[in-house]
Amino acid sequence: MIGYVKINALIVVRVTQITTFKSEFTVNLIYSLRMNEKPVAVITGASRGIGRGVAIALAGEGFDIAAIARSVDSEGMEILRLEAEKIGAQFFPVGLDISCTDCQNEVVINILERYGRIDLLVNNAGVAPLLRDDVLDMTEESYDRVMNVNLRGPVFFAQKIAKEMIWLKSKLVNYVPVIIFVTSVSSKLSSTNRAEYCISKAGLSMASTVFSDRLSHEEILVFEVRPGVIQTDMTAKIKDKYDKLIGEGLVPQKRWGLPEDIGKSIASLARGDWNFSTGMVFEISGGLNIHKL
Ligand code: NAP
Repeated sequence: MIGYVKINALIVVRVTQITTFKSEFTVNLIYSLRMNEKPVAVITGASRGIGRGVAIALAGEGFDIAAIARSVDSEGMEILRLEAEKIGAQFFPVGLDISCTDCQNEVVINILERYGRIDLLVNNAGVAPLLRDDVLDMTEESYDRVMNVNLRGPVFFAQKIAKEMIWLKSKLVNYVPVIIFVTSVSSKLSSTNRAEYCISKAGLSMASTVFSDRLSHEEILVFEVRPGVIQTDMTAKIKDKYDKLIGEGLVPQKRWGLPEDIGKSIASLARGDWNFSTGMVFEISGGLNIHKL
């Protein structure tokens, strides 16, 4: 259990573990509650691809950044740090495998220690199956891997951050917290050779709906951002196939999506342009949402 005991206006004791076994209080962390002046965005999967596009857009929007990826010392993370700092954002690289739900508490505490606040969570980290295989041959191992990273991890991370946001609401003025789930057109469109991915994203779409429902009572906004075919490392292996399909008209707007397209959309949500639209799905797919005869 995580809790707080207020000692005076500045010092808050954060109780991170209560050992009921010996009825013993363990106070793991004491920190003076230094609230960052600028709003803070936590972005998972920030070091490359869509997450990187989102981090740059949010830095430009006036957010300080906590950038999560499994490796903090990758080239991608270092380049992102330089770019974000050039724009004027503070940058905090954080190592976390999002599927490790037991590791998430410590990460949330580290971010709060650094910044004292979290205004926006972009739950973006996700993986494709290692092997595209027919649904009839899909292995339990691949299913579990994809579900743990794409669904289980983000759901429990959102749960932890939502609780912190609820607590922060009583501490900050003009605080409008937002949680965004990055899903995929695959939450609606079937691909028989990556069923585990489609199933995980369909689950994440419902997670976004359920969180938006529950958190509307807490004045926390929740949105689903649903990208189409975006040019990143994730799609690099199938670039030739999709170049051809896009050339043949798969995407009505006749081009690959870019990380910047998703970044701009999320910046608009973060800016407050959609503050009366909690629970909305924003599909950024160049028209893949158009059903046609
Ligand atoms: P990407 O280029 O492969 O980048 C993935 C990012 O997530 C990297 O920063 C990676 O860094 C991090 N990551 C991977 N596994 C992680 C884990 N277990 N825990 C924490 N971080 C992890 O992927 P992308 O194309 O930008 O995709 C981002 C999100 O958009 C995903 O959820 C994906 O499903 C979704 N999406 C992508 C497309 C597309 O066409 N690209 C379309 C629709 C939806 P490390 O490797 O260092 O951890």
